[in-house]
Amino acid sequence: MNAHAPIPQADAGCGVAIRQERGQRAVFCGLTGIVWLHRKIQDAFFLVVGSRTCAHLIQSAAGVMIFAEPRFATAIIDERDLAGLADMNEELDRVTRRLIERRPDIRLLFLVGSCPSEVIKLDLPRAAQRLSQSFAPDVRVLSYSGSGIETTFTQGEDACLAALVPDLPRADAHESPSLLVVGALADVVEDQFARLFAGMGLDLVAFLPARRAGAMPSVGPNTRILLAQPFLADTARALEARGATRLAAPFPLGAEGTTAWLRAAADAFGVDPRMFAEVTAPGLRRAEQALAPYRTMLAGRRVFFFPDSQLELPLARFLARELDAELIEVGTPYLHRGHMAPELGLLPAGTTVVEGQSLDAQMDRCRAARPDLTVCGLGLANPLEAEGLATKWSIELLFTPIQGYDQAGDLAELFARPLVRRTRLEV
Ligand code: SF4
Repeated sequence: MNAHAPIPQADAGCGVAIRQERGQRAVFCGLTGIVWLHRKIQDAFFLVVGSRTCAHLIQSAAGVMIFAEPRFATAIIDERDLAGLADMNEELDRVTRRLIERRPDIRLLFLVGSCPSEVIKLDLPRAAQRLSQSFAPDVRVLSYSGSGIETTFTQGEDACLAALVPDLPRADAHESPSLLVVGALADVVEDQFARLFAGMGLDLVAFLPARRAGAMPSVGPNTRILLAQPFLADTARALEARGATRLAAPFPLGAEGTTAWLRAAADAFGVDPRMFAEVTAPGLRRAEQALAPYRTMLAGRRVFFFPDSQLELPLARFLARELDAELIEVGTPYLHRGHMAPELGLLPAGTTVVEGQSLDAQMDRCRAARPDLTVCGLGLANPLEAEGLATKWSIELLFTPIQGYDQAGDLAELFARPLVRRTRLEV
């Protein structure tokens, strides 16, 4: 589609206009997810089978967080491999063997595909199977693609978690119903949610991914899944194929989002509404107190979202409903209408949601609108800042714990910070 061609529009049925755009995109590839996933699964290792560009991307994205031996690396595909002069499978086996010998702490190894491995059609699922057999039972080897041809930014996590699903232990139909929270959360956030669920009397609660490879949760027909992240379409599909049922809920961002998310689980497990109110009241109060000063800063501020992380809809809902910001345009790379239905229902009537991207057209609209704050990828932030627009890097929203009551204030602060900095510079 031409960048300036008319855009198909649809109404989501809740007064939100959804438009679709196709054209040039500016987003990171799915390798980026390794930066937060390697910290989450503590005995896993991510071996990217890629080029020097892939190695640089991971190093620079995660650079500040490397302190000792990182749990990711890149097996570089060089010119000899690309020219078909070397047997890539033999080389991959050799690199993997050396890695496992040197790092006996690794229990789960992900071979992560990239653009180069896809271009030379390296069969990573088969390589993972072969290596898994040779390292069993000590190390499990799985594969997924983080290539920029197949995935954007947060889809890397979706591909990784979906790769875990076939290996999850099977829960029988006669087992008691259990709750599975799906999506990588910072440990501190996970612990807070676990305490809240325990306070409501829910004791069969597990998280995917688990912190250790040997502690991955079981899944079966009595598993109720609650998505903690909005970009897990493939993972949810794989879990549903194993018989699990997804609970519809907004995402746990902000005081309102967190309450609605917790309530979806509480309702599914028949928690008494009074008990729910009692357990959530202290957190809700803390969140509302933390948000109040930021509402003064963000009320009436006009915000423009470029499509990047798939977190855009819940973030926009939070900004509009809890901080009184005004939404100019909410871009999202993909819109899963099923998973996003509760979020769409909460967006203010008249909100413009744009699915997909046509970069030039979107840049034109952003420049014309002159937003107070633009949420975008790193690549767009510098040019927009140079034009005098305040920006927020969407990647920061993935690296920072933002879910739950006790992080609501931090989340608001992330949006307020560029505005405060700008005011200081002007002074
Ligand atoms: Fe670039 Fe592709 Fe490697 Fe990502 S996977 S860093 S897009 S070459």
